[in-house]
Formats: sequence, C-alpha cells, structure tokens
Amino acid sequence: MKVGIAFSRYQTRYFQGRYGDLNSAVLSYGPCQTPTLGFCVQRYIDIQTFKPEPYWVLELAVMKRGRSLRALWGSGRSFNKNKVEKLLLEALESGPFAKVTSVVAKDKKQGRPIPLNTVALLKACSKALGIGPHATLQTAERLYLSGYLSYPRTESSAYPKSFDIYGTLQQQSSDVRWGSYVRELLREGPNKSRGGIDMGDHPPITPCRATRAGELSGDMARVYDLVVRHFIASVSQDAVWRSTQIDFAIEALGEKGVFTLRGKEPVSPGFLAVLLHTEYGEENIEGDEDEEERALPAFAYGELIPLTNTSPSSGDSSKVSVVPGTTVRANLGIKEKMTTPPTYLTESELISLMEKNGIGTDASISTHIENVQKRNYVALESGRRLVPSKLGIVLAQGYHQIDSSLVLPRVRSDIEDECNKIAKGLLSKDIVVQKAIDLFRNKFDSFVNNISKMDVLFSTSFSKLEDVGKPFTRCGLTRRYLQFIEGPPPRLYNKWTETVYPLPSGGIVKQWTGRVCSVENCNFELCLFSVGNPQRTFPLCPRCFNDSKWSLDADELPQDPTDTEDEQKEKQITSIAGKRLVLECPLPDEHPSIEELTVSTDPESDGVLILDPHMGPKWRLVSTRDPIIVYMPKGIEKITVLNKKDEALGVHLMQVDFKAGDSPFPDGELKYTSCFPEDEVLKARVRIYHGSDRLTASGRGGRGRGGRGGRARGRGRSGRIRR
Ligand SMILES: [Zn+2]
Repeated sequence: MKVGIAFSRYQTRYFQGRYGDLNSAVLSYGPCQTPTLGFCVQRYIDIQTFKPEPYWVLELAVMKRGRSLRALWGSGRSFNKNKVEKLLLEALESGPFAKVTSVVAKDKKQGRPIPLNTVALLKACSKALGIGPHATLQTAERLYLSGYLSYPRTESSAYPKSFDIYGTLQQQSSDVRWGSYVRELLREGPNKSRGGIDMGDHPPITPCRATRAGELSGDMARVYDLVVRHFIASVSQDAVWRSTQIDFAIEALGEKGVFTLRGKEPVSPGFLAVLLHTEYGEENIEGDEDEEERALPAFAYGELIPLTNTSPSSGDSSKVSVVPGTTVRANLGIKEKMTTPPTYLTESELISLMEKNGIGTDASISTHIENVQKRNYVALESGRRLVPSKLGIVLAQGYHQIDSSLVLPRVRSDIEDECNKIAKGLLSKDIVVQKAIDLFRNKFDSFVNNISKMDVLFSTSFSKLEDVGKPFTRCGLTRRYLQFIEGPPPRLYNKWTETVYPLPSGGIVKQWTGRVCSVENCNFELCLFSVGNPQRTFPLCPRCFNDSKWSLDADELPQDPTDTEDEQKEKQITSIAGKRLVLECPLPDEHPSIEELTVSTDPESDGVLILDPHMGPKWRLVSTRDPIIVYMPKGIEKITVLNKKDEALGVHLMQVDFKAGDSPFPDGELKYTSCFPEDEVLKARVRIYHGSDRLTASGRGGRGRGGRGGRARGRGRSGRIRR
C-alpha cells in the first residue's frame, strides 16, 4: 500500500536526522506491519505492568496403594489466606474424613486434526518444528514447485468433493515411516475429514507425491514430513481416552469442600499413532485442561478417607486422626502460590491474533512478521517468543500518542471488510478506494503536524536523557523507579514501558518518601509540589495528575468512555508540550490524597486548608486554591491529621501536641484534639499570610513557564493580616 511508503519516508527522515542509535535503517510504517508490532508491544506492556499476587489453595493429596494423587480444589483459589486457613481448621476439627461422592469413568474422543491451510501450517511449523513463518512459507513453496506438495497459500480447511483421498493415501502406502499405518487405514477405509471451511480458493495443503527416505533434507524434509502426517491424521480415526473423574467431599465445608481427581488412559490411539507432534493441535477434549495421562487406583462410591494435616502453614495440627492399619488416607494442606505474568507472544499466538483481527492474509502474514524482525522492532527469542526492542516500543507507543488507530487493528480490518463488500458487489470499488485514500491522507497530515509528540518519546529513549534523568518516585504499575526529567517541560518517564507522565510546571517537584497515592489501584508514590514564595506545598500523584478524572478543570467530563479516553490523551499532549502552568494545588480538593489532609474550608477562596505536608518544625496550613498560609503558633511539637472527621463541617480533626511549657491552656494540658474551624484557642494564636502569587503570575507573565515558583515577595495583598 502506498500509504505505508508516505509514512515511512517521512518518519525515517525526521528521526534519523535526530538520533544516532536507532539500529534500523528505515523506520517503516505499514497498515499491517504496525498493528503486528502493536500486538508484541501490548504484551510487553502487560508483562511490565503485571503485579504478582499471592493466593492460596486447599490441596487434598490422596494416598492409596503407595501413590500420592493430588486432587484439585473445586473452589479454585482464594486471595484471602485467613479464609483458607479457617477452612482447613474447620475441616480438621470436623471428624475428619473425605468422602468419595462420585466415581465416573467414560470414553472421550480427541478429534483428528482438520485439513491444513496456510495459517495452520505456519503455526504448526513454528510450534512443533521451530521454523519461523517466513522460512516455512518459502520451504513450502519450494516443495510445491518441485511437485511434492499442493499449493501452500490457501485459506481452505476442507477437502473439496473432487479431492482424491484414496489416491493420495495410496501414494504414501510404501513409505518406510508411515506406510504400514496407511495400508491398515486403506484396508479399514479412511475416515471422513472433519470440520473446516472450503473457501473456494485452493484446496488444503496435502502431499502430491511420495518420497524415498533421504530424498529430501533439512527444512524441506521436516515440513514435508509434517504435511504428510497431518494429511494422514486428518482422515484417521479419532483417538479415544478412558477418562476417570473422582469427586471427594469434606462435608463440614459444604460447597467449599469439593475436590476432584482426574486421570486418563489411552484406549485406542487413532490418529495419534501417525501424528508425531500433538503439541501443535489447539483443540482439546472438552474440559480436558488438567487431565493428566495417568491411571487412577479404584475408589468406591461412599468410601471414607481419613484426613491428616502435615502442612506447616497451619501451625498446630493436633487434630490429626490416623486410623491404624488403613492404606488409604489423605493429607489436607494449604499451598501458597503466586499469580504469574503472561509470557511474551509466541509466533503462533501472534499469527492467531493477526488472523482474528483481520491483519494481513494467509499470503502476507508471514511477511509482516518477518518485516518487524528485519527492522529490529522485534527480536525472536528462545521458545519462538517475540520480544519488542526499544525502538519497537517507542514507535508503537509514539503512534498511540498521536493517533491510536495507526497501531490498533481496527482501521485495517475495516478496509478489509469493505473490500469484501466490493467482492460481493455491495459497494463500488472507486468509492471505497477514494474513501481509504482520504482517510489516510487526513491521518498522514495529522501525523506530520503532531510528530513532535512522538519525538518526546524518541528524545527520552535515544538521547542520553535516560542516563541524566534521576530515579524519582516509584511507578504504581511496574513498582520501578521513574526517571525525573527536569525539562522544560518537567516530566517523569518510565523507561520500561516508555510512558511519559508530564508534571505541572510553575513550581518545584520534590520526592516525598514512601507515601503512596490513596486512590484505589493507583499505588503511585506521591511527590511534593511547591509553589509561591513563601512556598505552599501539596501532595502530587504523577498518575492522577494526568488522569482526566482528577483534572483541575474537569467540570464538563464527557460521559462516553471513549470520549474520556480521547480527552485524556488530548490533555496529556498539551502537558507534554509544557503548557500546564500550575500555581495552586495540582490535584482537586476531592482527591483522596488531598482530602485526608483537609482540616478546614478556606473562607476566602473556594479551596480548602490542608496541613502542609512538609510538617514541622514550622507547622502551617495552606490553602489549595489561593496563596494563603496559616502559620501555627510556636511551641507546637507535632500536629497529626486524624482519620476522624467532623461530620457537620466535613473536615478532619487534628491532634495538636505542645512542647512542655508551651501549653496555651490554664491547666497546662499539652495534648488535645482540635477541629480547626471551631478552635478559638488555636485561631487566636495563628498568623495568616495572604500572598499574591496568582495576581503576579497571570498579570505580568513574568519569566514564562518553568520558572522556579514565586516572584511575589510581599507585593499586592501580601501581609494584610499579621497576627
Ligand atoms: Zn494517584
């Protein structure tokens, strides 16, 4: 597509002129290639932002005939350790027996594979043979040109009626590897092939002629071998397993006391006798995930199995009852486990995602995957997993900053849809082509106008900024330190996810040890933002500051979540450009991290008074909206804002501790609880400072943005009230 060339040429010239270490000659954009990269980067971000969490399971290990068999807990898992410990205790105190409540054995079929199309071939070769999609398709084409295989680019996964299954099998009947199997199959009569769709293009991929052992070598031999075995398997009998399920119940626990033991044994191997690589098959028997291949000892319905507990985690296990002489017993214990992050995308998973999202066709999927590797956006690592490079991450995240549709699969699949409509005669080709060209021309223009936003990411990644930036407060998603980039514009940057968090300008941002944002699931470490002279200091959450929900001017939030998302992106872009001069509390008064410090309304502005988070020794309250500072009297040792609130006024109470000898009370009391708006003792002793930062800043323009806060120095309304 021409679209790709225009984008690629432009961004290559732009970024190569600026950075020396990009490791790729061409910075390509492609309507398919870029979403392909996007999938790999999204998985990378998922991994980086994953928070492992501990969970607990009850585990019933049943010992019979010298074997220990682990039965799975019907409740799955619990994130509450106490709850599981309580269940264990209840169980052990209840008698304690596990009762066999059901024994079911039945035959289950594992279906023969459906005929092979291109996408299935690419996935199978990647998974079972470790051959990448590009190499697979090239090899298959060579095999086709030499007459060994049928045409390898096809979407069809059903043999057409005219296809000669008998003849194709007969060709393979004297092969030393599978000949005897095929002769047996021909004697019994081949099975009908299963499922699949005939797309009417080319038939599924099948062998066209036999080879002698050693006639082919290398990848050609391996791909040929896989195709032949798959073909034979597709017309073989299903595999049959005898599957056994035994349910146990610990009655005291009700529905939380159900455990299940499963196992399966082969009855007849069917197609599995010829298919060597079962691991590439995606369809499993229904509900088969945790069914191990193993034989289970016999259990009788109603059988009672004495419970013991030797798990150290439950502490004292005095209620153990071992019935002497029994060979059957079960150990009930608790196992702690951790949730694990996803792994990098495998080639095979990527192919499935592309297929599902309509990115590329059977003919081009392998090329797109090859290209993102050739450009050094993605590297192929062990286990055929695709790991994005720094450049790949920056590119994908950069497109997100400018226009998410450039990297999300939707635009591309919309166009594929319209092409299908042309094919069906529902739309005119000229109109669709014109529409697509207009769409991308607009996108291109906006891309050119906004490339500086992408440049922000490039500059953070590829200049030396990464080394210069200081580690600064922890990210709540990755639990790693962010880099502080002074700017202008000032910003925090997560080098693992390439995310930029713009900070307010107009003040000083400092670290604040340890405190974490109180917004649910935010977990970002708070920093401090100081403005004005004298300074007022406020807590600042880097994430919430960039969240439209906590934006200072969020009065007219759109309701539609996609609009909100857009708006948020818009805001972030303004902030990256350094336009957010903030001379007040950077978070709204309702933000939990501000609310928990609120001790009074501010009678002179629509803000509130919070305890300055710098704390002592010069204790003061500051207004969130106006340059007003309430200096507390000398002699105060400590002020603690309590969780407790005055419900009528909606403000938190403070505990005030005076130094010995400095009590304002006749009885010399040193410690008391104060509700500031009603505390005449304290109010009579404070000094209130009215600054004029706001007037100066907006009125005179000053030295522009990014300046070091206050220039007010006692002008305007300053010092109107002293004592
Ligand atoms: Zn937050």
